[in-house]
Amino acid sequence: MLDLKYIFQGVLDYVREKYDYIDVTMNLWFNPLKLIKMDGGRVTVLCGDDWKRSVIEEKYFSSLIDGFQHELEIKEIDLTLITQEEYEAAQAEEQKKKAEEIKKEENKEEEIYINPAYTFNNFVVGSSNRVAYETSLLVCNSPAEYYNPLFLYGPSGLGKTHLLFAIINEIKKNRPDFKVVYITCEEFTNMLVDSISKKTDPMIFRSKFRGLDFLLVDDIQFLAGKKAVQEEMFHTFEALYNKGKQVVFASDRHPSEMENIDKRLTTRFSMGGLFDIEPPDTELRQAIFKHKADNYGVEIPNNVLQFLAENIKTNIRQIEGAIKTLKAHSLINGEEISLAMAKRVLSEYLRKAEEDSINAEKILKYVSMRYGIKKEDITGPKRDTAVKNARHICAFLMRDMLNLTYKEIGNILGKHHSTIMDSCLKVEGNIKKSDTYRREIEEIERELKA
Ligand code: ADP
Ligand code: MG
Repeated sequence: MLDLKYIFQGVLDYVREKYDYIDVTMNLWFNPLKLIKMDGGRVTVLCGDDWKRSVIEEKYFSSLIDGFQHELEIKEIDLTLITQEEYEAAQAEEQKKKAEEIKKEENKEEEIYINPAYTFNNFVVGSSNRVAYETSLLVCNSPAEYYNPLFLYGPSGLGKTHLLFAIINEIKKNRPDFKVVYITCEEFTNMLVDSISKKTDPMIFRSKFRGLDFLLVDDIQFLAGKKAVQEEMFHTFEALYNKGKQVVFASDRHPSEMENIDKRLTTRFSMGGLFDIEPPDTELRQAIFKHKADNYGVEIPNNVLQFLAENIKTNIRQIEGAIKTLKAHSLINGEEISLAMAKRVLSEYLRKAEEDSINAEKILKYVSMRYGIKKEDITGPKRDTAVKNARHICAFLMRDMLNLTYKEIGNILGKHHSTIMDSCLKVEGNIKKSDTYRREIEEIERELKA
């Protein structure tokens, strides 16, 4: 707006100078004019009423054109003079259109499919996911009272999206009037980019999110490195939070492990309730197997369930896949599900699960590759700093990720168990002392798990 005023002043100064208009002329005909729109050489000037317009068109039109040509350095000037009345009518029309668009956007059905089967009832609870489950239930029943935002994090395939959907399904049932939206960070990004590139009024995008009762944003880790999206997410959160509305975030990592993200946001993420979901232990895996089998209407004997739980460990998606495979097989071949049959049918699965799971060999291989040190050197007698460092890290990872004893690690790395203990302590000490070091170790663990 200021630009327009400034530009138009330039036009007027030029005209006055060039055509030598006296003050009375300027004050009567030129100074009251207002430049209200400019798009390249297409300019719109507000000029009072009809009578004034006809006078200006007759006597001063060409000098105005000349002024714009000079000021904008554009030859083709398309000048429109509009009256106050026309201007107000156009504005009212625009306001109306905008209000309609906002309304339409607000009432738009969600595009994202919320699986109705993802409910709290269908979520099997164990020690690794109990807190996440209970806090989800809590914010669902008492929005914005206890944890705002609620921030759930944990590796892929452990039930974060399931819990988010469960919250929505529950809210839809209990509070049908509630305006609740689930969105992935990616979808949020796409919508924002779309709105910016189409140059639609930012209010339309904003009103969609800032007028909600409950917002759930999944896979928030994808915010990393996206400045404009972070900005928008921050203000969305602030707006909802200040109005006492609940926000839930899910992420595959802790806020402190999110890089390239505005500090203001990570602070907000951490200020409500921060809860993680850990990989399920054997007991929970068995319960999930049982639950899924019941859901799919397949009968699986206990010894098979136990076998599956002990061997399929990485994530819960694999559990579902295994059950479906068993069911399909028994249906097609009319064979009852037994331990022998499960072992045979799932051999492919189990091999894959084995490949996916982290073991000592995998750690050794990864560390050796990352630091360019031969595996034989890590397990051998060499004592130079680089080799020792790699060895310390291997020992620490085997302890931290595999829960192996010092003795077991010692056998793998060919060292006495007291040496291994020293190695682990050294790494732990470094983690405490240096953020860079800590991040390095976290990154290694993340990549090993991926
Ligand atoms: P995430 O979002 O953490 O990657 P999902 O919520 O997509 O994981 O879960 C992957 C699959 O595992 C889904 O089909 C989900 O229903 C199932 N699942 C995860 N945790 C549980 C659980 N505790 N009980 C039952 N099913 C689960
Ligand atoms: Mg998910």
